[in-house]
Amino acid sequence: MTPRRNARATVRPARAGRPTRGRRRALGQHFLRDEGIARRIVELLRPGLSDLVVEIGPGEGALTGLLAAAGRLVALEVDPTLAARLRERFQGAAHVEVLEADAIRYDYAGLAELRPDPAGRVLVVGNLPYSVGTAILAALLTAGPAIARVASMEMALMLQREVAERVAAAPGSRAYGSLSVLSQLAAEVRVAFSVPPGAFRPPPQVDSAVIHLRVLAAPPVAVADPDHFRAVVLAAFSQRRKNLANALGSGLGLPVERLRGRLTGIGIDPARRAETLSLADFARLAEALPGA
Ligand code: SAM
Repeated sequence: MTPRRNARATVRPARAGRPTRGRRRALGQHFLRDEGIARRIVELLRPGLSDLVVEIGPGEGALTGLLAAAGRLVALEVDPTLAARLRERFQGAAHVEVLEADAIRYDYAGLAELRPDPAGRVLVVGNLPYSVGTAILAALLTAGPAIARVASMEMALMLQREVAERVAAAPGSRAYGSLSVLSQLAAEVRVAFSVPPGAFRPPPQVDSAVIHLRVLAAPPVAVADPDHFRAVVLAAFSQRRKNLANALGSGLGLPVERLRGRLTGIGIDPARRAETLSLADFARLAEALPGA
């Protein structure tokens, strides 16, 4: 979170100024207008004086005022105009810091050190821009486990509903895919509630949902090589209509006959489809397949 560590995430001055309508759309600027929903989001985490809150994309500040109940609040906003306005609004509040920064590239690694109290939690809250919601989630979940080894870490994130359902989906459901497996390797996830388009100005074209995540200090299943695990999961889901052996064969460039033998050897039917495999199945699968 130090300026040097996050220099790459800082917005360049060339981008300063009021964004055009196209850029505002690209930044997913649908502002929450329903106070009840803002309260429900914050209520999921109940920030207190010991906690650090990081708000992603505070926009016009629908959540920011409520989140300022935390001992320390750091808000990351990529739009310079909105960041400047919020900074002005909170200029008298020494515990609130509004940074003009890109939440995808931000270095979250040092968050635990920023807690106002070593007993406090690291809380991340945001009504995420749809176009980059999964990229921001991936950045947070990549950094999350190391933070969770030092401090409790929870997140309440609003995403497009279809994406939220994919993140939280269980094996066997249509929504279950690589996003579910990779997210659930790093966090316990549940969909807390849905939010209709009318809660925002301008209203988006799709429904939204808020997910609640508890980041795990260690994955729920043993994974020796996270990069290899990820490659196997992505390959398994790369062709959803194919059975596991065929999908892995084309995704990993391995002979299908050999894959059938390996799968049978670890008790997984090669004719199954990726969406039926649990996290534990994927861990066994990654362990049994050759790495890079
Ligand atoms: N939190 C506000 C609310 O609920 O009304 C605004 C939410 S709006 C859906 C998304 C916000 O994220 C916008 O203010 C937008 O400028 C900001 N944003 C978009 N991309 C971003 C990025 N990469 N990093 C940080 N903020 C971003």
